Amino acid sequence: MHFRKSVLAAFLFLTFLCLSVRAQSFTVGTATAAPGQKSAGFLQVPAGVDVATNIPVVVVNGTKPGRVLALVSGAHGTEYTSIIAIEKLIGALDPAQLTGTVILVPLVNIASFEQKVPHVNPTDNKSMNRFYPGKADGTQTERASYLITKEIVDRCDYLIDYHGGDLDESLRPYAYWGPTGREAQDRLSKEMVLAFGLDHIIIWSERPSDPAATRYLDNTASVRGKPSIVVEAGHAGTVETDDVNLLVNGTLGTMRALKMLPGEPHPIENPVWIEKLSDVIADGPGIWYPLVKRGTHVSAGMKLGTITDYFGKGIAEPRAPVTGVVLHVNAVPSLKKGDNIADLGVVASHAP
Ligand SMILES: [Zn+2]
Repeated sequence: MHFRKSVLAAFLFLTFLCLSVRAQSFTVGTATAAPGQKSAGFLQVPAGVDVATNIPVVVVNGTKPGRVLALVSGAHGTEYTSIIAIEKLIGALDPAQLTGTVILVPLVNIASFEQKVPHVNPTDNKSMNRFYPGKADGTQTERASYLITKEIVDRCDYLIDYHGGDLDESLRPYAYWGPTGREAQDRLSKEMVLAFGLDHIIIWSERPSDPAATRYLDNTASVRGKPSIVVEAGHAGTVETDDVNLLVNGTLGTMRALKMLPGEPHPIENPVWIEKLSDVIADGPGIWYPLVKRGTHVSAGMKLGTITDYFGKGIAEPRAPVTGVVLHVNAVPSLKKGDNIADLGVVASHAP
């Protein structure tokens, strides 16, 4: 009797141990990491109306339990700096130093990366940051967005979405902060964006608030109550060390602010807050000769460049519609109707 009782006790104890270890391990797609481990796998997007795709994912599970941070990059697969920054972080993050769990997705849009196609997923010609929360029975972009919403957004506490200047965009680094009106959440997301340290921050208001039509990844997380930011660095196919470092060190700063890494964050003290964006759009095809560079401050009415036809005859002189900062400008001579010639940011009259 006594013997059977102690066997039972030992059995229960072992079961408890197994369960508690299992409870602390963290799985995303095919990647499972026990506490203190780093694991790689895939988010498997099944075939549907078009082909399947496997999105790489890494789980870094800290020795100490805590909150879950998701880092997602490469929705636009030729915004290389952001992708390389996450690759660096995969190597750099040490589970022994980490409190909580980090999910890293370095490259959402694999077809864009491999085929060197900017802006869209060449499989279905859709931007992979416009169709959230996605659809299980949609095209590949929608099915991938659906899986990311379910496997990553729904399971994280905080999210950072990484972008940059695409192949045809000369971009100066900046972040987006999207206040929701929920005070505690907005305070935390603001702390995240300041700790990240990029010196231009766009206040992104008036975004979709319907959870079924959130469009953007960070907004999908924000609407679901998770503090989220967007960060952008890099330009026109380049991978410059300074740009990569902005994203890598910024991430570590935000993780310190979230108490996921030891050490004090060094938040940016007086960033340039941008309250409004103004796009300059091409109204026809032509050859673009810019007069401004990324980061240039322009006054309303200033000439941004000239556009000629294919015989060299001037056909347009786009001007700045507002006074502000050139956040990005078309980096290549090619222009077709509807292309973005420049994106100007109007500096906010006061910090939020
Ligand atoms: Zn992008």
